[in-house]
Amino acid sequence: MVKVTIDREGCISCEACWLLCPDFFEQNPNDELSQVTKPYRLGDDPAEGDAPASQEDCVREAADQCPVTVIFVED
Ligand code: SF4
Repeated sequence: MVKVTIDREGCISCEACWLLCPDFFEQNPNDELSQVTKPYRLGDDPAEGDAPASQEDCVREAADQCPVTVIFVED
């Protein structure tokens, strides 16, 4: 399990993270920025989630691909 944080204010809605990890990331319909999907969200904060082993490679890849490096993955 790794903790994932998105600095949502810096997101430019490039779509990379939710195309790479559609189970974990999605586009918020109101502000159009990336957020963690409900099943993986920590509490009510759309910017924080726990990624289980099955999502780990994917979220790391998304963090690497994010053009503005606003996705952070902590062990
Ligand atoms: S990859 Fe980064 S910039 Fe692109 S949608 Fe996701 S958080 Fe936003």
